[in-house]
Amino acid sequence: MITMPARKPRRTAAATRRTPLLLDRAAIKRQLADETYDVLVIGGGITGAYAVLDAASRGLRAALIEKDDFASGTSSKSSKMVHGGLRYIEQGNVNLVRHSLLERHRFRKNAPHLVHRLPFLFPILEKDGIFDARLAKGFEGLLWTYDLVGGWRIGKLHQRLTVPEVLAQAPTLRAENLRGGLMYFDARADDARLVLTIVRTAAALGATILNGAKAEGLLMETDQVAGARVTADGDTFDIRSRAVVNATGVWTDELDAKADDGHRPQVRPAKGVHIVVPWDKVRINCTVTVPIPGRARRATCTRWGNSVVLGTTDEDYQGSRDDVHCTREEMDFLLEGANTAFEGKLTPDDVIGSIGGLRPLVGGGEGATLDMRRDHHITVGRTGMVTVTGGKLTTSRHMGELVINKVMTVLGHRGKSRTTDLPLLGGAGYDAEAVAASGGVAAHLGERFGTEARFVGDLIQDDPSLAEPIVAGLPYTRAEVVYAARAELARSVDDVLSRRTRARLFARDASVTAAEAVGAILGQELNLTEAEVERSVAEYLAAVHHEKSVLLEGAAA
Ligand SMILES: Cc1cc2nc3c(=O)[nH]c(=O)nc-3n(C[C@H](O)[C@H](O)[C@H](O)COP(=O)(O)OP(=O)(O)OC[C@H]3O[C@@H](n4cnc5c(N)ncnc54)[C@H](O)[C@@H]3O)c2cc1C
Repeated sequence: MITMPARKPRRTAAATRRTPLLLDRAAIKRQLADETYDVLVIGGGITGAYAVLDAASRGLRAALIEKDDFASGTSSKSSKMVHGGLRYIEQGNVNLVRHSLLERHRFRKNAPHLVHRLPFLFPILEKDGIFDARLAKGFEGLLWTYDLVGGWRIGKLHQRLTVPEVLAQAPTLRAENLRGGLMYFDARADDARLVLTIVRTAAALGATILNGAKAEGLLMETDQVAGARVTADGDTFDIRSRAVVNATGVWTDELDAKADDGHRPQVRPAKGVHIVVPWDKVRINCTVTVPIPGRARRATCTRWGNSVVLGTTDEDYQGSRDDVHCTREEMDFLLEGANTAFEGKLTPDDVIGSIGGLRPLVGGGEGATLDMRRDHHITVGRTGMVTVTGGKLTTSRHMGELVINKVMTVLGHRGKSRTTDLPLLGGAGYDAEAVAASGGVAAHLGERFGTEARFVGDLIQDDPSLAEPIVAGLPYTRAEVVYAARAELARSVDDVLSRRTRARLFARDASVTAAEAVGAILGQELNLTEAEVERSVAEYLAAVHHEKSVLLEGAAA
């Protein structure tokens, strides 16, 4: 495949800031209460994030509120793949795959610092594999389809691997029945950081964004929705807006019912979990797909730094939508899959982190959630509220575009989306290979902040002690906590350790040890009282304790 050398894209200069975008909570709250917006987006997951960015980039006066933290719902708990989804080809949904692969390409162009290419490996086994050598040919046909409908855009076509080539990628894979492998290429991103970067990009374009702000009710004017009544930090105020978007994921029905008494629930939550083990226990360099014995399911094992993430499940869920964790049974299921495929024996003691989330699927109660389609649904209700549900992380930009198209109709405006080639903050002018080659702190910061890493670097230059790591064993620096408080609306220890960094997922116990130090920095930066800092630390410790007890329920004391 011949590709031309790239020239400097036209929008790079305008999308690169000279000073950091600092966000001040008190000023944002005042603005929300005082202004009248064209559109208010409720829900700060990836769907709401791209909707508010789309609106702001079209020049609309746009706001977004999030009841907890940005990405604290499903959007920090995904498998983190920005992908076409090979499984959807198997389901016959080629259109979703084609479309997702185009969106993957746009994500990689607009956020090259956050969305990275990732090789996926399917081992071909003599028996007990996902498919045996006989069926590998048929499977390769699927991979050709994947390449042809858009996979090629990543710059590499799928490959057949010999046994030594497979073992070079996954040295601890059980070799007894191994006949070779098939490798193809997709991408992944830290989902929470992606959401944060999207909402910050919207803020840079003039949108007003706030976390810790819950829509308790809707404002109505002549039977049409006209804003929301909001609580934030114990204050209650009204946000007035000519159009309102409900992007609250698995909570969508709650808000739709506030807009329309006759609303019938649409969302069927499907739970999925991931667990994390140290890399030296499962030595892989890519994502390996393995069968779960005795069940028509497969799991993926993905290297992430010095860890490996194992996932996922897909089951109906009836519990609280605000308290979703990986259970003992779910952990055992994933460990069993990994133990069958890899040498050595993983036990619950090896699990250093876990996470559970809910897919906001739309549809009836029939059949397995795994077989339900992942397409999005956008409706305009009787009261004019635009509701969006379903979809995927990967297709969020396009969903945002379609949502704001509907909003434009509600407002009686005309105009087209501008997000297809809109760089996210830190993405313009970013050179992934050069940053990776620089190594050390520079590469770590580059891969999280893109060209905005210079602002975190400035903090370290002013106070070199901020270069010290904040969580033992992980590369995050103290400077990133300072930056999270000043520029990323982090309010609590949990915001920092669960989403501004992923310390809770990748090193749960070490994150507990770091909680006090994080609290101290937040206290100083946000002017918190000693009691507020203590409460933030205690809440984090209690949340982690709860997560761990759900995970280990049934384990020997
Ligand atoms: C296990 C799992 C794996 C997945 N893997 C992938 C993957 O690899 N690739 C992919 O593309 N997709 C994946 N997905 C799908 C993807 O993660 C979801 O489609 C997406 O994150 C949904 O985002 P959302 O914004 O619609 O919902 P959410 O992220 O849940 O956002 C909704 C937000 O609304 C807020 N909210 C609720 N009520 C209110 C209120 N009254 N006021 C203010 N705010 C409110 C919530 O706090 C929440 O933050 C996966 C999903 C799961 C569960």
